[in-house]
Amino acid sequence: MKSKIRSIIVLTAVFVMLSAAAAYAMVDAKSHPSSDAPYGAGPFAENPGETVSAQVAAQAATAVTGRNIDPSKPMIALTYDDGPQTSVGNRIMDVMLKYDQRCTFFLVGDRIPSRAEEVKRMADNGFEIANHSYSHKYLNKCDAATIRDEIAKCNENIKKYAGVTPVLMRLPGGNKNDTVLANVNMPIILWNVDTLDWSTRNTQKTIDAVLGKVKDGDIVLMHELYTSTAEATEYIVPKLVEQGFQLVTVSELAQYKGVVPQNNKIYYSFR
Ligand SMILES: [Zn+2]
Repeated sequence: MKSKIRSIIVLTAVFVMLSAAAAYAMVDAKSHPSSDAPYGAGPFAENPGETVSAQVAAQAATAVTGRNIDPSKPMIALTYDDGPQTSVGNRIMDVMLKYDQRCTFFLVGDRIPSRAEEVKRMADNGFEIANHSYSHKYLNKCDAATIRDEIAKCNENIKKYAGVTPVLMRLPGGNKNDTVLANVNMPIILWNVDTLDWSTRNTQKTIDAVLGKVKDGDIVLMHELYTSTAEATEYIVPKLVEQGFQLVTVSELAQYKGVVPQNNKIYYSFR
């Protein structure tokens, strides 16, 4: 009999605890409306220099921009390699900010110190800064130690000058082999829409490679080096917005498509 009473008391206590937990969870959910992004704003918005995981960094990026991204509407990631290049990067940022859109810059580490102000602007405004090696060596021609060094030194400069820790990398030239894939130790982001802007250096051709071609989840490759790319970006951003696309960083795209990028794995899109 005693043991029966004891078990009733225990069960009642468990029920009370579970009810309290459920009530708390409901209150917590209400205090974070869905427009506040799935995870809400965390402390990382104030501490962008903190070392964080890929997932937390994606949350921080969302917290920094404070934008409303609608997961049910199409989104694409415009990406710019080989910068920083101030004359082009600032034009890209100007038009992105004018329409409250964002993109990702894959930076070359040894170009950063002389363009620190531009890189800080990227970080301060919620653009994603990612790794494109330290000196743009084709990593498939490098040994393991050099590959690791190219990745680490680029990350160090981004941390030093922008105050953020990159969570994604792109291989110079997209070149890879088994040694590369075993030593990058970051998620590898390639692309599924190639504008060939580096080859044509033509504004209209760059525009035509994007408009009418892109679909929800796409990753578009461009380069932060050419005036024609800046001009094309100034044209396509308002057009894409008009067509209902949300322009997001690669980490945002992954996050909203429910993917947590894994180290040494290659992603071409998040369709
Ligand atoms: Zn490159």
